[in-house]
Amino acid sequence: MTNQAAQEGTRPKPVLEAISISKSYGHHQVLHEVSLDVNPGEVVCVIGPSGAGKSTFLRTLNRLEVPDAGEVWVGGEPMGFKLVDGKLHELSERYLCAQRARTAMVFQHFNLFPHLTALENVMEGPVRVQKRNSDEVKEEAVEWLKRVGLEDKVHHYPSQLSGGQRQRVAIARAVAMKPLFLLFDEPTSALDPELVGEVLDVMTALATEGRTMLVVTHEIGFARQVADRIVFMADGAVVEEGPPEQVLNSPREARTQQFLQRVLA
Ligand code: ADP
Repeated sequence: MTNQAAQEGTRPKPVLEAISISKSYGHHQVLHEVSLDVNPGEVVCVIGPSGAGKSTFLRTLNRLEVPDAGEVWVGGEPMGFKLVDGKLHELSERYLCAQRARTAMVFQHFNLFPHLTALENVMEGPVRVQKRNSDEVKEEAVEWLKRVGLEDKVHHYPSQLSGGQRQRVAIARAVAMKPLFLLFDEPTSALDPELVGEVLDVMTALATEGRTMLVVTHEIGFARQVADRIVFMADGAVVEEGPPEQVLNSPREARTQQFLQRVLA
């Protein structure tokens, strides 16, 4: 809950609601009725062993993966659907893209366009998907590249940038879409260790300015410092969740304890 809402004794409406999401690949059920709410301004970190379904879950939230069952609501709208007279109608790909732009995702492998400069990568979504004025977008994109410390790399291509710099371009590209919230899928796990800090610093700054973020991460120190809530997933389900001090210092579930012993050893 945001501080203001807590003071007023009101409960904010979640900006993201995932309700009983299930997903299988063939006979392998990867997600078992996973539910999660994220409130405005909240930073939620999802941790758990490799293969737990964290990335798949994240991808069902913006419908990069279509769940087999369950619902996702983004800003009060059903993801992938239009509500007409109380009935859900599936959206065409074109409308889905526009809806997806309300949720911006930062991927493990950056996913920048190699033939576009840093600036062009940041401008692409707002201009092409959101049809915004390109002069205005350009001004904002330069500002975002400055904010992530890349003012001298605006006209560089991804191949001319380090992994940490590419990921900072990807973060600038995500925020330039003015999304309701940011999804991060292990944003530092493809980076050389010495480049991790510069990306986590940018993410910490975004969290501090009150952005809503859902972050799948192996960086327990970052999660401890920045998360309002930590969700521990294993075997395609949420095992436990709570404030960082509770989940990380006094986990209730044996599986959480075992995982933390392993990663904090
Ligand atoms: P995590 O992010 O927690 O490491 P993932 O969501 O990447 O877990 O994967 C969960 C399980 O789903 C793994 O067993 C993985 O092999 C499987 N999986 C993920 N994507 C696919 C896919 N496109 N096709 C088949 N299996 C997949």
